[in-house]
Amino acid sequence: MPQSYDAIVVGAGHNGLVTAAYLSRAGLKTLVLESRAQVGGACVTEEVFPGYKFSTASYLCSLFQDKVVRELELEKFGYRVDPKDPAFFSPFPDGRHLTLWSDTRKSCEEIRKFSARDAEAYPRYEEFLERLAQFVEPLLLETPPNVVMRRWEDWRTLAGLGRRALKLHDQEIAGHIRILTESVKEFLDPWFESEQVKVALATDGVIGTRGGPQTPGTAYILLHHCMGGVGGKRGLWGFVRGGMGGITQAIAQSAASHGAAIRTSAPVAKILVKEGRAAGVALASGEEISAKTVVSGADPKRTFLGLVGEPELDSEFAAAIRGIRIEGVSMKINLALDGLPNFKCLPGSELAPHHKTTIHICPDMDYIERAFDDSKYGRPSARPMLEITIPTAYDPSLAPPGKHVANIFLQYTPYTLSPEAAPNWHALKESYADRVMDLVEEYAPGFKNLVLHRQVLSPLDLEERFGLTGGNIFHGEMSLDQLFSMRPVPGWAKYRTPIRGLYLCGSGAHPGGGVMGAPGHNAAREILRDWKRLAR
Ligand SMILES: Cc1cc2nc3c(=O)[nH]c(=O)nc-3n(C[C@H](O)[C@H](O)[C@H](O)COP(=O)(O)OP(=O)(O)OC[C@H]3O[C@@H](n4cnc5c(N)ncnc54)[C@H](O)[C@@H]3O)c2cc1C
Repeated sequence: MPQSYDAIVVGAGHNGLVTAAYLSRAGLKTLVLESRAQVGGACVTEEVFPGYKFSTASYLCSLFQDKVVRELELEKFGYRVDPKDPAFFSPFPDGRHLTLWSDTRKSCEEIRKFSARDAEAYPRYEEFLERLAQFVEPLLLETPPNVVMRRWEDWRTLAGLGRRALKLHDQEIAGHIRILTESVKEFLDPWFESEQVKVALATDGVIGTRGGPQTPGTAYILLHHCMGGVGGKRGLWGFVRGGMGGITQAIAQSAASHGAAIRTSAPVAKILVKEGRAAGVALASGEEISAKTVVSGADPKRTFLGLVGEPELDSEFAAAIRGIRIEGVSMKINLALDGLPNFKCLPGSELAPHHKTTIHICPDMDYIERAFDDSKYGRPSARPMLEITIPTAYDPSLAPPGKHVANIFLQYTPYTLSPEAAPNWHALKESYADRVMDLVEEYAPGFKNLVLHRQVLSPLDLEERFGLTGGNIFHGEMSLDQLFSMRPVPGWAKYRTPIRGLYLCGSGAHPGGGVMGAPGHNAAREILRDWKRLAR
């Protein structure tokens, strides 16, 4: 092995890049190896059709940690987010519509169209969620305690958490227990009476998740989506200038400015293990590179069952990794448009506030639940839940003059199809996308005629294109039994693994998926702790 590094990071997803930036900033000779021809993983901008640039996977930013932005000086490298305001627009089949804004007062005026009682409740609901998020948010950048294989430090962390919890008001303690265990419907029902208000808020609880509004645990996903913010406003999401690749390009530049080397089109075939210790990697090309530390930004299944290999693993650990639930239910359709959609309920094709937000196509809670029901039996939803965004409403540079790009992110399209549904996703995806276009057409007549180009990414495409095992957008379901001390598997929540010198830094580690940078940040902290300990 002619080359040698202090640390090799497998995968240039945003988390891998964050880890690499922190390690190189601390003086470690660091190399990032990425399979794809460009960095970014699922946080990327790609010119799919000449002149049209898409955030082909993730499309909105909110969870990305301010601490990471500051410490890695990402604004210096071009990172910029335009707050999405309004926050949501929901057209309804009866001709009404609901727009929620970042300004609570304006949202209340809108909600009043549906229910005066809900308009009164909304500010209290926002404030309550804010208080719950304030308790959970600091945990994002902390290393969880191990709840199995405990040591003294784990008891200390658990005691600290307990002390913080005991300081909460009674109502908040109950709120935390409820939000961790309830379905999003159970959580919203006591607050609101209007179906339209509830459904507009419930979508954040089911996005990317194998669960419907009545599935226990979906309330936590709702809270997860309120954890960040843009421009100082909690829960607000935003469009990144230049597309989501604006984030990863900035992190890559920051890492490179501290000396990190980044190689693309360099798939790692194997993580080399010698006497129970990570020793480097072998690339698919046959090239071997040695390193004292190997950090994987790939998901835990891909890392351990694919790159390390079961023979190197203890059988119990291998079984735990095999048991991670990682089947995705989401699909992405990226569209080049000749103009803006003209909604029946709010006519007009000139740029208006409702084009500048997330447009929900899901009229009520039962609609989402039925959409989820189909997926339980391996069938894509007959009528899926859609979220449509039009990034060119903020950043016209993404398309030629007068044209637009649009994202449709939709649930539920199960990775594993029943044989009756179709032989595989490659055979089904285009005809399924036609059905999705028909659905949008119901709300915005003429929409199909606006489509100049279409890219359809099924869960199988998400796996093949971005290396997301099972097409799961979060590197593993974000259910309570796979979060915090249980992520990726019990006993290994501290970014370290049973292979000495091998760490996880991607979304499969705490605190999970979304463009957050938190797993990458936390993994780097633990790696540097171990370096200091070994240097002593
Ligand atoms: C369609 C879609 C929509 C989403 N929407 C949003 C959104 O709007 N907002 C949001 O916050 N989150 C969203 N998410 C989730 C979010 O994008 C992901 O959770 C996050 O980007 C994962 O980042 P990561 O760095 O942990 O992993 P990844 O981005 O998956 O990066 C892992 C990297 O490792 C590379 N890799 C894997 N194996 C190897 C190997 N053997 N050798 C070398 N390289 C390898 C991969 O190519 C990839 O680049 C979405 C995801 C998808 C797919």
